Amino acid sequence: MKIGVLALQGDFAEHITMLKRLGVETAEVRLPAHLESLDGLIIPGGESTTIGKLSVDFGLLEPLRKFGKKHAIWGTCAGAIFLSKDARRDQPLLGLMDITVARNAFGRQVDSFEADLVIGPLKQATNTTAPYHAIFIRAPIIESVSGKAKIISTLPDGRIVTAMQGKLLATSFHPELTDDLRFHEYFLSLAKLRNK
Ligand code: GLN
Repeated sequence: MKIGVLALQGDFAEHITMLKRLGVETAEVRLPAHLESLDGLIIPGGESTTIGKLSVDFGLLEPLRKFGKKHAIWGTCAGAIFLSKDARRDQPLLGLMDITVARNAFGRQVDSFEADLVIGPLKQATNTTAPYHAIFIRAPIIESVSGKAKIISTLPDGRIVTAMQGKLLATSFHPELTDDLRFHEYFLSLAKLRNK
């Protein structure tokens, strides 16, 4: 099992640390050739416009789209925006997931917050029942899901913060900034699935 982390901008190092704690082989992805032999890819939090523009500059946009048609990809925060079909602004997107997102939906940096979430598939994959403590930093909201995308978790008020489509996963929050390995463990279970 080898998992890549898109390492153009953002908190890719934190994802790599989590994966190493789970004993997984990792690779930093900056060029199309780095996608070879990977079982899955994580797109970190950061700034989605920057991640998008750098992906264009490094010739990664099409190779990433192709990769996501077969393999597991998980986007956290800015990564979730980059996976979406529509971010209500003109910026490069992978368009792999049938989700519409609203960037910075909770306000500015000072409006960052934490919340305990109940996440069904996480419970099943890791055989635990404790709620998941999620960290939101200038987070997007998943405004709507369509097509094959499914809602996986919401805030108590119903706003969508996790969605999934086959082996593609989008979270508004940052599991890489916690001590809780369960989300990464769950992603590994998706990466292991043979076909979508
Ligand atoms: N606000 C950022 C964006 O719109 C995302 C923030 C994050 O990844 N923590 O791209």
